[in-house]
Amino acid sequence: MVNSGLIFDIKRFAVHDGPGIRTTVFLKGCPLRCWWCHNPEGISCASEVMFFTYKCIECRTCAGICPTGAVTFESGMHHIDRQKCTACGICSEACPTGALKLVGRMITVEELMQELEKDILLYDNSGGGVTFSGGEPLSQHRFLKEALKECKKRFLHTVLDTSGYAPVEVLSSVLDYVDLFLFDLKLADDEEHRKYIGVSNVQIKENLRMLADTGRGGDVILRFPVIPGITDTERNIGGLLEFVASLKDIRRIDLLPFHDVSEKYSRLGREYKMPACSAPDAERLNHIKDCFEGIGIGVKI
Ligand code: SF4
Ligand code: SF4
Repeated sequence: MVNSGLIFDIKRFAVHDGPGIRTTVFLKGCPLRCWWCHNPEGISCASEVMFFTYKCIECRTCAGICPTGAVTFESGMHHIDRQKCTACGICSEACPTGALKLVGRMITVEELMQELEKDILLYDNSGGGVTFSGGEPLSQHRFLKEALKECKKRFLHTVLDTSGYAPVEVLSSVLDYVDLFLFDLKLADDEEHRKYIGVSNVQIKENLRMLADTGRGGDVILRFPVIPGITDTERNIGGLLEFVASLKDIRRIDLLPFHDVSEKYSRLGREYKMPACSAPDAERLNHIKDCFEGIGIGVKI
């Protein structure tokens, strides 16, 4: 039993992560590298520091206090050497303006439950509950399972927001404690999946088929990120339609239009691989909606 996990946020009053009003717990660590990932602070399985340029008053407190010399001012510009940074958090505590933020903290299952219990009445009144997201929550599956079990002991509705990328035994280990899956579906072609996401899609498809074949299709909402020129091509839509049509009783598919999050990457000192592009227009989204409705799947934009 693993009693603690690394999280990067707990979002109360969430309304887009499953039914009703929910609390979403964001677990750190993800084996995928989607070019458009909108939660880059969830990728690393270690704590890290985010720097918000617009809040910095250049007082240099952080440079003076950092025990590893990771913070410097090169040509007057604030710089964090990510190789030297140990994510001790001393700088974020000392920064007078909140320009530095440590993302990633260990939490025990008991501490998490205390947080979640604050809103039990809200969940009951709205038909909501608790959502586990990330990162990829299955990358901390032992902690996830313990947290889910405790939620079920309290009769809380649970949602797992997942890429589906995990060994089938790992996914199977939490099935009994998950009421609804928000399951990402991105690219039908394995070669393209490896290019834009960094891993094969074979395991993901197998896991999705396993859910459908074991009578859990009705508990699955697919989530399709509409990324111009990458996932919204006719070829990819065609491949996904063929695959989804072969799955039993999938509840619905949600279309998630691309939005630019390059700013978040620079705050973490990470490279943003997405080329500049605009959000998909209504015409494109409606076309994709029509395609999925054409195979009998409900669609939400
Ligand atoms: S988190 Fe610690 S090691 Fe990293 S920059 Fe801040 S003070 Fe330095
Ligand atoms: S302590 Fe905060 S405000 Fe001061 S230089 Fe460092 S990041 Fe900027």
